[in-house]
Amino acid sequence: MIWHSGMIWHGGKNRIHTVSGWKACRLWESKAILLDLRNQAGLRPGAIEMSQSHPVVIVGGGVIGLSIAWRLARRGEPVLVLERDTVGRAASRVAAGMLAAAAEVGFEEPELYGLCRDALREWPAYADALERESGQPLDYRSFGTLVVADDRDAAEALRRGYRFQEQQGYPVAWLSGAEALEREPMLSPRIVAAVSVPEDHAIDNRALLSALTTAIEKAGGEIREGIRVDRFDSDRQTPMVEAVMVASGERITIEASKLVIASGPWASDLEGWPNDQKPSIRPVKGQILELRMRAPFDLQHVVRGPKAYLVPRSDGRLIVGATSEEMGFDARLTVGGVYGVMDGAWEIVPGILDQDLLHIDVGFRPASRDHQPIVGFTPNPRIFLALGHYRHGIVLSAITALAAERMLLDEEDDPRVAAFATGRF
Ligand SMILES: Cc1cc2nc3c(=O)[nH]c(=O)nc-3n(C[C@H](O)[C@H](O)[C@H](O)COP(=O)(O)OP(=O)(O)OC[C@H]3O[C@@H](n4cnc5c(N)ncnc54)[C@H](O)[C@@H]3O)c2cc1C
Repeated sequence: MIWHSGMIWHGGKNRIHTVSGWKACRLWESKAILLDLRNQAGLRPGAIEMSQSHPVVIVGGGVIGLSIAWRLARRGEPVLVLERDTVGRAASRVAAGMLAAAAEVGFEEPELYGLCRDALREWPAYADALERESGQPLDYRSFGTLVVADDRDAAEALRRGYRFQEQQGYPVAWLSGAEALEREPMLSPRIVAAVSVPEDHAIDNRALLSALTTAIEKAGGEIREGIRVDRFDSDRQTPMVEAVMVASGERITIEASKLVIASGPWASDLEGWPNDQKPSIRPVKGQILELRMRAPFDLQHVVRGPKAYLVPRSDGRLIVGATSEEMGFDARLTVGGVYGVMDGAWEIVPGILDQDLLHIDVGFRPASRDHQPIVGFTPNPRIFLALGHYRHGIVLSAITALAAERMLLDEEDDPRVAAFATGRF
């Protein structure tokens, strides 16, 4: 027998109550225990059984969990985000913030490419609404991307990608090295060709996370940090999660109207997955640098080369990334990683050697087996997955949240995410 404490969500301010001294093993299976909790918390008998009184519980406060929470909260849906650490500290914070379809995805992944383009179509209105509702700027930058080649091999690869984009009707322009240099004077004179992609944009992902947090709270949603969900029960009609308050070790349970699992590369660690439904999500490590640009150095575009990319922010920071390493959750910053990124960046924009180095960060991209996101209900219509966004979680956060809103609240399918359904493996 284990001593547990219980948590009940019942709407309004200070909506979470912890109740200790509650003894059980698999506590969420026992109605009697729920009644006991209700009595201890002083709730009206029966209140906890009305599914409307339970929130949609979202496991994980990264960009995906927060974006979904915002879309639900602004529609008046009670929503509760559980984050084991601090929201937006994992890959979502470390990312470069590129909102890219053409520069990131190619003809090998037509469905993903289509999804990124759908996402890019949504982004301007989505960002406007978020800025308005949060009152915070996102540093949404629509100055476009230059994808550059610094030798003939790279130019050939670039031309193949360019033809694909053209066939897809995406606005792209082929530039000679000289034309590219004219548009972006900081480029290396060794650049032999470039593709201008005016519709691949960028955002400050940290500003995005902060705006989402504010907008959720303004809309009446609840975010609880320092709560790690350990397991969930998918057999019950209303899902139940068992969690631990990290600081105190106190165990709690929460009944949800629906459960959204958005816990990034840690999703497979959750207990409670029915036998064949556990998603295989692995971490792909990325080391990334943050510089401060010193005048007269100033980049006017996102610049992407064969081995590195550079993403300027309007406050003078420059994000330079990133490695892609199969190292599990090894969070070490390595000389080889930093050297590889800097070397790749220096080859296309030599002036970066003179800039101030502010930080080196590491993050773990959540990757599914086919490197594509997993978005949709499990066979249980109350459990929704939003996982595996890999290299594209910032750009895809908008479309994932819009699809989740439609599927969870309007109970309609969203054809745009049909190819990324949970049962495809
Ligand atoms: C170096 C790098 C650069 C990138 N650049 C870009 C880019 O330019 N553009 C782009 O679109 N994408 C980019 N990405 C990818 C993007 O960052 C990810 O796809 C995205 O952040 C994934 O978001 P997420 O919310 O799924 O996961 P995460 O950000 O990992 O968030 C998951 C959250 O769940 C929490 N959690 C985990 N387990 C539990 C639990 N049991 N209980 C409670 N909470 C839990 C974690 O603490 C974490 O906060 C980049 C990634 C990296 C690493």
